[in-house]
Amino acid sequence: MVRQYGFLVDMRGCYGCKTCSMACKSENATPTGVLWRRVREFTFDDPNGMAFISMSCNHCDDPQCMKVCPADTYSKRPDGIVVQDHDKCIGCRMCIMACPYNAPVFDPVEGKTSKCNLCAERLDEGLKPRCVESCPAGVLQFGDIDELRKRYSADLSRIETHYKLPDHNISHPNIVIIPAGDKE
Ligand code: SF4
Ligand code: SF4
Repeated sequence: MVRQYGFLVDMRGCYGCKTCSMACKSENATPTGVLWRRVREFTFDDPNGMAFISMSCNHCDDPQCMKVCPADTYSKRPDGIVVQDHDKCIGCRMCIMACPYNAPVFDPVEGKTSKCNLCAERLDEGLKPRCVESCPAGVLQFGDIDELRKRYSADLSRIETHYKLPDHNISHPNIVIIPAGDKE
């Protein structure tokens, strides 16, 4: 693998508009009820404590989806993007159960599962992922994960505990999270 692409999510600027989610849906023409990128809302006792996190597939180093899929649907490209061969999907939903982030989404009409491919076709044309391009607040960034990690380093376990996110040691996701309210 020559590199590993990933996302940086700067929660400090996110106000939960869901433009990223809708841009993704539009770009990929996903069916009704299928959102590859979703925005979660957190509320705390502090009335100023509302926060949002936008997340899709994290193109993990150890993709649990790929491990469990009985139809050999998932593969990891040399740039680290985990892609799905949708034609091969048999709709068993094993990947949904295995993914710590619930990234794959099942469409009951088609009887198949699909997920974010990091806009691989756009990247191959030199464009940015649609969600990154669309965010009006510049919350989402994309790039080589080593470079993104240089921009922000924090105790990921502390962030996971605070926002009740899955333990990164399960799948080693390629995401950098800057928590809301962080002063760095
Ligand atoms: S578009 Fe940007 S500001 Fe709006 S919900 Fe998504 S990440 Fe947050
Ligand atoms: S986030 Fe889930 S679907 Fe995406 S690569 Fe990791 S385990 Fe697979």
